[in-house]
Amino acid sequence: MSGSNIKVICRFRPENKIEKAQNAGLCVEFPNDTSVTVNHSRGKNTFHYDRVFDWTASQKDVFELGAKAVIQDVMNGYNGTIFAYGQTGSGKTFTMQGPEIPVSVMQAALEGGDLGDFAGYDPELRGLAPRVVEAIFEAIASAPPTMEFTVSCSYLEIYMERVRDLLDPKKDNLSIHEHPGRGIFVKDLTGIYVASAMESLNVMEIGANNRAVSATNMNAESSRSHAIFSLTITQRNTTTQSSKVGRLYLVDLAGSEAVNKTGAAGQLLQEAKTINKSLTMLGMVINALADKKSTHIPYRDSKLTRILQESLGGNSRTTLIINASPSSYNDAETLSTLRFGARAK
Ligand code: ADP
Ligand code: MG
Repeated sequence: MSGSNIKVICRFRPENKIEKAQNAGLCVEFPNDTSVTVNHSRGKNTFHYDRVFDWTASQKDVFELGAKAVIQDVMNGYNGTIFAYGQTGSGKTFTMQGPEIPVSVMQAALEGGDLGDFAGYDPELRGLAPRVVEAIFEAIASAPPTMEFTVSCSYLEIYMERVRDLLDPKKDNLSIHEHPGRGIFVKDLTGIYVASAMESLNVMEIGANNRAVSATNMNAESSRSHAIFSLTITQRNTTTQSSKVGRLYLVDLAGSEAVNKTGAAGQLLQEAKTINKSLTMLGMVINALADKKSTHIPYRDSKLTRILQESLGGNSRTTLIINASPSSYNDAETLSTLRFGARAK
């Protein structure tokens, strides 16, 4: 494996209607394709990442830069993680999934079928997750016949430092264990075997629907929880009987603005602080991993970093996609997001 194991990609979405209506103008400039300058109320700052994408970047561009190398590693038996970070509305879910459409519509679009109410949907808009599972099943299909594969998915969310199984939501307070052979795992988490990209996406869709329902039941926003989808790929060489296991995590993080929310009280304040904890600890872990001198990586200090411990650092490859608004209307949040990303370098 070559190069730094944490790749940071910065992506700006287009201005939205509200921002256009405010007429605030843009707060960002792009000196080159690895830098961005943000103009804000207290001056301007330039940040550097592995790549900076403006709003003209395609989903394919983001996939090729952010996911291809990670997939390759996972197919070679390593672990990998792709994060989407940013304030609510910055494009995390768009980057990870694409526009919110049923999987059946995406499938119809790919096969040239009837899109019904979704006429006009362009399958080029599908996000990282569909492209990742397609690439994995393509790699499996082109592997030598002596290789046998199994792929299993799980999907969980972390809300207020509680771990909920999105594929079986009555399991809403799962615990994290460590086993000498198995490593770190979430006890009793559902794993579903899948045999195709579409089956994987169907599982993901079930989980996403459960996430929305549980958020409504708890009177919360799903943007306040971290959603972690994982694919575990086990391959066995039937000639030599050797086997290897790679795991890929796709993480749609809680909105980063919760960190700065002021004026919150009671449940909301507690929520802001607790969400703050997983995101803050993620920042600390990423910072420690980027700092060669660091000897202690504080994985144990939040559920998020604990679950991902074996997929962050070491032999694992990590992509952090920081998503932001280009509008001066959101300059403070954009600046804070850019700073978070800069800590990983
Ligand atoms: P988040 O998950 O961070 O809260 P979303 O992904 O839901 O944000 O994005 C908010 C809105 O902006 C959605 O309507 C989404 O379709 C749109 N959007 C986000 N990124 C892009 C993009 N790169 N191109 C076009 N539309 C985008
Ligand atoms: Mg979202």
